[in-house]
Amino acid sequence: MIKYNLLCKECELTFDSWFASSKEYDKLKNKKLINCHSCGSVRVEKNLMAPKVINKDISDKNGKKDLIKYQKIKKTLNEYQKFIKNNFDYVGKNFAYEARSIHYNNKKKYKGIYGTASKQDLKELKEEGIETQIVPWLENKKN
Ligand SMILES: [Zn+2]
Repeated sequence: MIKYNLLCKECELTFDSWFASSKEYDKLKNKKLINCHSCGSVRVEKNLMAPKVINKDISDKNGKKDLIKYQKIKKTLNEYQKFIKNNFDYVGKNFAYEARSIHYNNKKKYKGIYGTASKQDLKELKEEGIETQIVPWLENKKN
């Protein structure tokens, strides 16, 4: 005896049914002798659900997609960082101070600045009307 989980294509009911063998199932299926328990439709097929396998497959695919997405973002960030490094002056932890001195003293600077600031600094700068932009920064230990 073999038990199959069957799916009715008509009403989407799934139900278990016992057959003498898989050949027996095929025979009955070909003779359209397998009916849906609910609507009587003969459009009944073996329900090929294997949740664990399916889930694994999906998560692997998503994992790959995420990895590709991550690599794209990383590439963009690296290019962004390169651009900033080439076009902005690094002021390190003096960022808030430098930003203020540019803002208040009309200090002429051809280059923008970048550096590190605390959340508190950024909040205060914003309150003073100094626009800052937070850039996600990747530490590149090779450089
Ligand atoms: Zn049905």
